[in-house]
Amino acid sequence: MRVHLATIGCRANQYDTETVAAMVAAAGGTVVETPHDADVALVNSCAVTAEAEADLRRQLRRIARVAPTVRTVVMGCASARDPDGVRALPTVSHAIAGFDATAVGEALALPPEAWSAAATRQGGARALLRVQDGCDEHCTFCATTLARGAQRSRPVDALCDEAERLADAHPEIVLTGIHVGTYGRDIGSSLSALVLALMARVPAVRFRLASVEATEVDDALAELLAGAPRQLAPSLHAPLQSGSDAVLRRMGRHWYTAASYARAVERLVRRAPVFGLGADVIVGFPGETDADFAATEALVRALPFTALHVFPYSPRPGTAALRLGDPPAAAVVAVRREALRALAEEKAARHRRSRDGGAADLVIVGRPDGDRTGLSEDYLSVRLAAPAPPRATRHRATLACHDDDGRATLVARLAP
Ligand code: SF4
Repeated sequence: MRVHLATIGCRANQYDTETVAAMVAAAGGTVVETPHDADVALVNSCAVTAEAEADLRRQLRRIARVAPTVRTVVMGCASARDPDGVRALPTVSHAIAGFDATAVGEALALPPEAWSAAATRQGGARALLRVQDGCDEHCTFCATTLARGAQRSRPVDALCDEAERLADAHPEIVLTGIHVGTYGRDIGSSLSALVLALMARVPAVRFRLASVEATEVDDALAELLAGAPRQLAPSLHAPLQSGSDAVLRRMGRHWYTAASYARAVERLVRRAPVFGLGADVIVGFPGETDADFAATEALVRALPFTALHVFPYSPRPGTAALRLGDPPAAAVVAVRREALRALAEEKAARHRRSRDGGAADLVIVGRPDGDRTGLSEDYLSVRLAAPAPPRATRHRATLACHDDDGRATLVARLAP
């Protein structure tokens, strides 16, 4: 069987698609590049924004155009949110809610012995490890929590076993999920306990936390983020969403305020010699006033962010935010978005300049057939002098910042 796989959305989805690829391989099938060469296609969908769902419709129209006789299985968040709507789209034979190995195995007609397969080598230079699924919170803008259901943490032992297998091919493993900071609450464990277990079992790998709420980093994890950079990358993507407490309350994000978020990230960054701090910010949430936005802008300016993702609010069907009134005018949202993006770029460039002459621990990443770059412990993309070392290798380096064009580009000199 030849299967074409496509993924829309976050790292949790990318991990699930890697698992489907492993199931296909375990059944003796092949993953092919284009739907034209496939017997069946599978699209892993996303519902986080209207744009992500539009992307699913575009992909299905493209599949129908290049391979009109192929049938398509859709899984992920969009097919959980609106299975009937997804089933009505061109070529779709199955709409599976989230990731369900049994349902995927049946839809792809794979033998049952292949349904429990997990990847030992993934497509990226860095591996992904989904540690949990679902979320027990109810942020008013979030369609993901509606699509993914309640939190389900995977057992520590199973995750250690999988990390050990992935470590043969990947020098870095990224822990991912939907609400990673609450990992373990449903099984009597915690994220710090999991990270300690992974570090003990697979000491040669660098683990990285992807998105974790800042106030959910406990003392033990904060200690590891600052004190064990070879084993746990000193970086965190800590969703902020807004710097206005009034907006945070309307968003249903009750577990932190602007002040408690600031304390949490400052505690992390202060302890570590270098730290990559990223965040998501939503602009144009319903009722966001000039004063609310000014509070967000001031907080972003004050905190040591090294990267920022700025999104305009995207109204999602079925979410409570739809009952909170109209968002600000599109022109106002565009101005706010641009202001934050410019500020983010300024802060990112300042961080890169601060790394001039500093040491770095690089994992070599890039497409198998494309240019390679280094990824530092603090999540900086670094240029490599030719000839670049092989992909998925790890090197100590010294960084130099080239700022002739004002772009603060980092170049690595690898240690011999
Ligand atoms: S924490 Fe909020 S935004 Fe994140 S998945 Fe849960 S409900 Fe959605």
